[in-house]
Amino acid sequence: MLTCKQVSNSLNKKDYKDLSFVQRILLKFHVRCCLFCGKYNKQVMETQDMCRHFRENEDSIIESADSEISLDEDKKKLLKEKMAQSMDC
Ligand SMILES: [Zn+2]
Repeated sequence: MLTCKQVSNSLNKKDYKDLSFVQRILLKFHVRCCLFCGKYNKQVMETQDMCRHFRENEDSIIESADSEISLDEDKKKLLKEKMAQSMDC
């Protein structure tokens, strides 16, 4: 059984997915069962998951964010007309 200090040091040094299979199982078991460090280290592991996911999908995430904020030409034209109408009033 790993100690809380060993688990925290492992998570502090590198992504838990880079650990060996056995180390990863022991670490997950400790985090799941430990009353003292379980909640904190679970959040550390979730943060590592999010960072890894972002790194792996960075290009597609940024592209989809860009496409969500851009308007197509028809919507731009409609928006310009609406703005012009509101300026006339
Ligand atoms: Zn612990």
